[in-house]
Amino acid sequence: MKIDLHCHSTCSDGTYAPTEVIQRAHAAGINVLALTDHDTLAGIDEARDAASACDMQIINGVEISCEHTLSGGYGKNKSTNKIIHVLGLDFTDREKNACNVAATARQSSHSWSTYRRKIE
Ligand SMILES: [Zn+2]
Repeated sequence: MKIDLHCHSTCSDGTYAPTEVIQRAHAAGINVLALTDHDTLAGIDEARDAASACDMQIINGVEISCEHTLSGGYGKNKSTNKIIHVLGLDFTDREKNACNVAATARQSSHSWSTYRRKIE
């Protein structure tokens, strides 16, 4: 069994739409996939529909952008803020989690949209 628990679609910074992600994963022999777009659950329904057509299993996923303040460092690394991405997998209450993801992205000074602007 092949499993991929970290995939992005055009709903964040991926190259392919959710349906195409599923089709390409299926062609590569993936059986179980988690679509983990940055700070959004927007592609999961489309991915799930595409997966049902080819007998793949979808696991709910998201990659949340967070700002992490390191403490206890020394020298130039003391109290450095870092942007980290945390994967959330296999949550069950999608509506509640969609609200939480949106609220987290709004609160973060390094939300995905801000991060994307920095790298573009
Ligand atoms: Zn990622």
